Amino acid sequence: MSDLIIVNGRVIDGTGAAPVMASVLVEDGKITAIGAEADSLAAQRTDLRRIDAAGQTVMPGLIDTHCHLSFDDAGSNAEIFFQRRNALSALVAGYNARKLLRAGVTGLLDPDSTFENMIDLRDAIDAGITEGPRMSCGAYALITGVGGTAGRLIADEGVTGYYMPVNSRDEIVREVRRQIKHGADWIKVHVTGIIPRQAHRGEMCVWTLDELKLICDTAHELMTPVMGHCRGAEATRRAALAGFDFIFHATGMDEAALVEVVDRKMPIAPALTFQANMVDFGHRIGTAPELIRMFEREITDSIETMTAAHKAGVPLLTGSESGFALVPYGDWHYREMEVFVKYFGLTPLEAIQCATQKSAFGIRMAGETGVIAPGYRADIICVRGKVEENLALLGDPANIVTVMIDGVEKDLTAPPARKSISGWRLASIGERRLTREVAFGDGERPGGAGTGFQVEELH
Ligand SMILES: [Zn+2]
Repeated sequence: MSDLIIVNGRVIDGTGAAPVMASVLVEDGKITAIGAEADSLAAQRTDLRRIDAAGQTVMPGLIDTHCHLSFDDAGSNAEIFFQRRNALSALVAGYNARKLLRAGVTGLLDPDSTFENMIDLRDAIDAGITEGPRMSCGAYALITGVGGTAGRLIADEGVTGYYMPVNSRDEIVREVRRQIKHGADWIKVHVTGIIPRQAHRGEMCVWTLDELKLICDTAHELMTPVMGHCRGAEATRRAALAGFDFIFHATGMDEAALVEVVDRKMPIAPALTFQANMVDFGHRIGTAPELIRMFEREITDSIETMTAAHKAGVPLLTGSESGFALVPYGDWHYREMEVFVKYFGLTPLEAIQCATQKSAFGIRMAGETGVIAPGYRADIICVRGKVEENLALLGDPANIVTVMIDGVEKDLTAPPARKSISGWRLASIGERRLTREVAFGDGERPGGAGTGFQVEELH
């Protein structure tokens, strides 16, 4: 690894501070000096590589705390559950990981994966077998016998896709320990699920407080944090009381839930990019208007509580929910920052802080990466333009000039175009039923066709 200095760039350090013109000195994979000190140290050396970042923003790499690399832009849970093979999905995930690097992502948390095989991709990246962002992962998402967000698609026992039902206290303890033994950095719990006959209630908390505590006690004993998918107030409140370390979504909080979250300053990744994409672009993919309104409500109903949480010092982390066709890899990892600015009133610099310094917690590297300051790892990106004036600059790989992890520059050439894999996608014979009226009627019938996304199938 060669030492280097980045010169002529505007530095956003990831702490929320305003940009400054400054050089950044990187030695031994770490940032060792900024500004005048970096320049004077560099003047004493002849072996330094120089990176000229004129016209560019130099900032910490983005950290995506909710990205499912094994799902491969799936159109439905059925595809993920029943169409995939273990080794092939890990290989495909390795291909997709390069798209994240090109998008300026230097760290990601993969909450749960098919065959829990993102543990293997993480280890392969760590060992330099394949190139990708730093990864931290969960294994299978724990659910109760009631199920997760995919209703009856989930078997009563044994693995379905990325889900593992645990049907007794003994099974909870055994499964948590098994996942940790096999390399899970986090235990992921689906605290809420959808019960088909009660789908009108939305997602419900499907665990008792005691069960949630048992998960936390077992995991914490083995130095492993616990993260929960919580949609709805009661789930978030119970997860906080039980000792969870990190909450996904936390939408629809009430006062009681908010108090517990604020008391503990419990990090939240709302992961609303999925919903925001549906709201802004659903019409382009044929999503029904009522579904779009439902997704928008999930964001707008949380404005008050999420804003209050942020103001009270609860860290908001960024997560894209990439892995589904609505949020393809490489395209939307910056977008949660736009959601924070548009709906929750953050400034762009605060939103950048969420995606860098604060999200480092999601990869269990808070204080080690996500900030440009002496002592931090050199996980740095250089981006054309002024990012704090236009966050969407991060959406175009053409603007991402340099991406380094531990001071090592990554290959940003586009991966070769891929071809289809037989048996990989869920086949569909079309979205409409061929009634005789459709076959012989006079042309287009309005409506009828829907999106491929079913409400109860959303992750
Ligand atoms: Zn997810």
